[in-house]
Formats: sequence, C-alpha cells, structure tokens
Amino acid sequence: MDASGLHIDGNGVAGTLEEIFTTEITVAERICQSCGSRAPIGAHRAYHGAGLVLRCPACGDLGARVGALGDHHHVLELRGTWVLARSP
Ligand SMILES: [Zn+2]
Repeated sequence: MDASGLHIDGNGVAGTLEEIFTTEITVAERICQSCGSRAPIGAHRAYHGAGLVLRCPACGDLGARVGALGDHHHVLELRGTWVLARSP
C-alpha cells in the first residue's frame, strides 16, 4: 500500500492549529504525563529564569518550557496532554 495518499502537508491543517493556539490558555487544562492529574494551566506553578517553565501543581513535573529568541520569536516545548477549547 502506498502511504503517500494518507497524509497532507502541515499547511492543510493551518486553520485548525490557528484555532487551537489562539484560545484562552489560562482556562485550558493539562493532564500530567507523570501523575495523571488534570489541572487548569492557571493553576500550574510558573518559574522565570532564562526562560519560563510551567510545572504540574500536583507532582512538579515539567508541563511547558518557553524561551524567547528575540525578534518576536519563541521556542515552545509542551509536555502531557493539553485540553484546549475553541474560542467562541
Ligand atoms: Zn503531575
């Protein structure tokens, strides 16, 4: 079976990704990959240093890392399962 017909390039899902990444993030929830707890992003512990780190409020494991590269660019690493609601 030829797998080339089973996918499209990322441009084909741009609209869906734009809807997801423009939601109100503080009311989004994250399910921790380590302890399984589900908590709003606003309830996570935030640490500032060389970048920004969000940690699970239950076990302290990493939820997200954000680094600023300058010129309005950032790098983002997400951990666990993020539950995002589309903005109305
Ligand atoms: Zn946890």
